[in-house]
Amino acid sequence: MIIQLCGLSGAGKTTIAHNVKRKALSYGTPVEIIDGDNYRAFLCKDLGFSKADRCENIRRLGFVASRLSEHGIICIISAINPYHAVREELSNAYAHVKTVFVDCPVHTLMERDTKGLYKRALLPDHHPDKLHNLTGVNDPFEVPISPDLHLKTHEKTIAACTNELFSFILQSFQTHTHPYQAVTA
Ligand code: ADP
Repeated sequence: MIIQLCGLSGAGKTTIAHNVKRKALSYGTPVEIIDGDNYRAFLCKDLGFSKADRCENIRRLGFVASRLSEHGIICIISAINPYHAVREELSNAYAHVKTVFVDCPVHTLMERDTKGLYKRALLPDHHPDKLHNLTGVNDPFEVPISPDLHLKTHEKTIAACTNELFSFILQSFQTHTHPYQAVTA
């Protein structure tokens, strides 16, 4: 199974993914987090933040996820993943892909600003530290129309969001591995 997270920077993708991984491992279920920031440092080093590069980034992460998920590893792709078309592309290209929207309004993210990115995006244009392509501020984020799961991290605690995603994965996993029972239940 592949869980493709999407959501703005600081929304909680990494935090929730790591919590879910810990929880799953305690049940003996292997989870691999395919983290956009990590892969940008290696496999996707050549990519920037244009629309084309952001989409290519997701394609590569999706490909890695597809290889691992064939061996029963639950893959969580943790990246902003801002474009509808490439999210759809992944959903159509591989089996058992679920889209999970990790949602948090920009004003809350500006308060959190754990990485200082929002502060940098709001600097005047001529400032040398200005970020010119921060998703949700000066770069687009296409809100998923009908995600398989919608987590609102400004309304629920980290623990509650973790449990929600974990339960969703368990449910989906059972449906995939025992489709007959699920249909007849
Ligand atoms: P992302 O991976 O989406 O960029 P991070 O997980 O790195 O986001 O950062 C999210 C920040 O928001 C963390 O500092 C986390 O403690 C905080 N946070 C507050 N509430 C939540 C929540 N309900 N779910 C996830 N993170 C939350």
